[in-house]
Amino acid sequence: MAKFIQTPRGTRDLVGEDAETFEYLVNEFRRIARLNGFKPIVTPTIEFFELFSRKSGEEIIRSMYVFKDKAGRLLALRPEVTASIVRAYLRNLLGEPKPILLYYVSQCFRYEEPQRGRYREFWQLGLEVIGERDRLNSDLRVVYTIYEYLESLGIGHWFVAGNVGIYRAFMDSLGISEDDQDHVLHLIDKDLVDDVREFLAKRYGVEAVEVITGLMNRGIDGLRDYVVGYKDLLGERYEAVMEYVEDTQRFITYSRELGLRIEYMPKLVRGLAYYTGLIYEVKAEGLDISIGGGGRYDNLTLVYGGSPEYMTGAALGLDRIMLVLKRGAEGSSARYRVIVILIKSDLEGYRYAYDIVKELHRYGVEAPLYTGKPSKILSLASRRGYTHAIFIGSREVVENRVTIKDLSTGEQVVIDKNRLIEYLNLPPQPFPQDPCST
Ligand code: AMP
Repeated sequence: MAKFIQTPRGTRDLVGEDAETFEYLVNEFRRIARLNGFKPIVTPTIEFFELFSRKSGEEIIRSMYVFKDKAGRLLALRPEVTASIVRAYLRNLLGEPKPILLYYVSQCFRYEEPQRGRYREFWQLGLEVIGERDRLNSDLRVVYTIYEYLESLGIGHWFVAGNVGIYRAFMDSLGISEDDQDHVLHLIDKDLVDDVREFLAKRYGVEAVEVITGLMNRGIDGLRDYVVGYKDLLGERYEAVMEYVEDTQRFITYSRELGLRIEYMPKLVRGLAYYTGLIYEVKAEGLDISIGGGGRYDNLTLVYGGSPEYMTGAALGLDRIMLVLKRGAEGSSARYRVIVILIKSDLEGYRYAYDIVKELHRYGVEAPLYTGKPSKILSLASRRGYTHAIFIGSREVVENRVTIKDLSTGEQVVIDKNRLIEYLNLPPQPFPQDPCST
């Protein structure tokens, strides 16, 4: 077969059951995000390279798809969505009352080595909270929404939390430059402890090694005392670090109270450079890589020329959720799935049949229309799991009736057209057109 029949490395088609699962996961995410007050946002797949190069972190920048367009502009396929959200906020939403709660379903691109759960094109389900002064509340609403979503999917999961603000404040106090801080955090993220030691020892001396590696091994209970021990070193940053410690402890305690499983993980720093304080990842049973991650990125607006702002958010990897989903896709949410077989396929027949289709849709019944040999359509209907078939021939049209066959029992009856809804025993009120529209 021709080479271009294949998808490019790290990308894939989703067909059949996988496509159904994909859609189900997206719909369910939208439903839960909306129940928690989040509103949708859609941003472009391509952005200026600079939007990401400013603050996304070295690993992400290295893995970006970057290209020049025909006018010579340097563009990138988005490797993540938060930078776009901040940009969109600054451009469109500054006048909105705060807090602003946003969710997105977006595909992202990273030129990474493909492996299980790691693709070059993948989908993120994201939540962002902008401008909520009560930081604890905003972080809790994000993780609670994730928890509700994963619970609704039946996915066993837990959170690990850390705080990158503590590392940054210590490194500021040790005189470590911002670029070097990013690099150290990157090494910690990759669990390259020896490299952290070597890098710090060479550039900043033994005290830096001692302080930072000490932090990497400190549990949540000992964290407060550890910070107290470095009160002099931290100087004016001491209060802020204490606040980070308390924020983290409170976040963990409150999350547990809401039913979440969550642990403190001192070496958690995350790959993205824009995080400022609390951070966390989501782990799922059956997968050793994270299915999601997030945290605070307060004041990321400053990087793009805006004013300071409270910001927090998280993204889940849809492709990874697909890998751990135990239950199959729900497929259609319709109670009945009726195949309408139009035998009299002239203008009058179509008008008659689409009257029926329209009425069934109003009640949330899946009802596609087919023409052709009834026996063939019936065998397709049973392969695809339809519950009923409706036949519309000349006689039905003349008599204002339909012939309906129950495909599980084989029972077939002829009924008045306007008795169809009653026959299927559908609820008296039509379903709303769009369950998400409220
Ligand atoms: P990040 O933007 O790096 O914080 O990633 C957030 C989530 O996106 C991760 O926890 C993954 O679930 C998902 N993700 C990141 N990179 C990939 C990838 N290359 N392939 C599939 N999912 C990914």
